[in-house]
Amino acid sequence: MGGTRRVIVVGAGPIGLEAAAAAVAAGHAVTVLERGDVADHVRQWGHVQLFTAFGMNSGPAGRALLEAAGVLLPADGEHLSGATWRERYLLPLAAALRDQVRLETGATVRHVSRPHLLKSDAVGETSRRAADGFRVFFDQHHGEHVLDADAVLDCSGTWGTPNWLGPGGAPALGERALRSAICYHPPDVLFAEFDRYGGRHVCLVGNGDSAATTVLALAQLAETVAGTRVTWVTRTGGGRPVAARPDDPLPGRRSVVALANAVATAGGDVVRWIRDAQIVEITKDAKGFALRLETRDGEWVEQADEVIANIGYEPDDSLYRALQVHECYASRAPMKLSAALSAASGKGGADCLDLGGFGPDVLKNPEPDFFILGAKSYGKTSAFLLRTGYEQVRDVMGLIGG
Ligand SMILES: Cc1cc2nc3c(=O)[nH]c(=O)nc-3n(C[C@H](O)[C@H](O)[C@H](O)COP(=O)(O)OP(=O)(O)OC[C@H]3O[C@@H](n4cnc5c(N)ncnc54)[C@H](O)[C@@H]3O)c2cc1C
Repeated sequence: MGGTRRVIVVGAGPIGLEAAAAAVAAGHAVTVLERGDVADHVRQWGHVQLFTAFGMNSGPAGRALLEAAGVLLPADGEHLSGATWRERYLLPLAAALRDQVRLETGATVRHVSRPHLLKSDAVGETSRRAADGFRVFFDQHHGEHVLDADAVLDCSGTWGTPNWLGPGGAPALGERALRSAICYHPPDVLFAEFDRYGGRHVCLVGNGDSAATTVLALAQLAETVAGTRVTWVTRTGGGRPVAARPDDPLPGRRSVVALANAVATAGGDVVRWIRDAQIVEITKDAKGFALRLETRDGEWVEQADEVIANIGYEPDDSLYRALQVHECYASRAPMKLSAALSAASGKGGADCLDLGGFGPDVLKNPEPDFFILGAKSYGKTSAFLLRTGYEQVRDVMGLIGG
């Protein structure tokens, strides 16, 4: 298995770039295929401040490459915004890699398959499937392309495939037609999207860190633009919208959650919290959105000018549908990793800082030489941290050889 292998990395996000740097350092011939610009998802949430300091947001292979190129890196303790992190670390890393790997932007991977074996062929015959190699099918410049590979690392993240708003994670009635009118990410309400949200009534849905970030940004916007107000809908009940992690070791995240909970429960004019609720139907006309809410107290319709759904993401499995990937039926993460995650959370290790990379074995699939790394490796689970992804990259290098 040693020696040069043709490695294709899907996605030039932070973990894809680290994987490319590590694979090239191990002597492989590396191609990176990226759908948008380099670190395109990070670019889209560039206005958000990272909870973790730079030391945790940079990987050993990437750092080694940049240090060799004489790039001055941020201090380990610095807390950067997504945009600054991209500017000072991810873009220079991609630039340094360009001399050593083939990096294609605007290249959307659609399918990874075996060239001569169907998904149902050679079940359990690992060496036969491995010997067949991979065929990676992608779109670029309005054309279809194919590349061969010996190993494929799927680092394409989950940001591009948000969950649905409706009951049980399925679409609410009317939601599919309004997919592009609803914002499924934490928007930049204070700058780029100031005009869209300023002075508006916003219905925010979700009970995680992103919803907490968004409610604080909207509350800040309300201090500048009168009339800005938020109806914050959460599926969960209890005394506060976001469950605080006991003794959260990340102070930035701890304070965002505490402040968001305080704003929601203060009873002011700007933020109104509706708990134990779900959106069953959503429509839109010239007056704005109408959301039919189902709560313990009955159903009613809430009007809003804008809807922000910060309800998490799920992996896009269309890339590897032709491969023998064993996904967990609950989290949709690769089975072994998912089992390790649930075992760790059962032992009280529910915080992402307690969850390590779990070692190389959990990265293995029934499909040899195909690995899902980074945020996508956690499936629908949101606890992924960059530090774990950098450990996965190190572990996977041992599995692909070289
Ligand atoms: C708002 C926000 C804040 C976060 N803050 C932190 C933090 O402080 N600390 C921390 O450790 N983690 C944080 N995370 C979690 C996680 O570390 C990030 O999501 C991180 O960007 C994941 O890196 P990744 O490389 O796995 O995926 P991504 O950054 O999502 O990158 C995936 C790349 O793949 C590309 N791609 C997608 N589909 C295809 C395709 N079909 N073909 C080709 N390319 C494709 C995308 O364009 C993208 O560039 C945060 C996440 C979010 C959303």
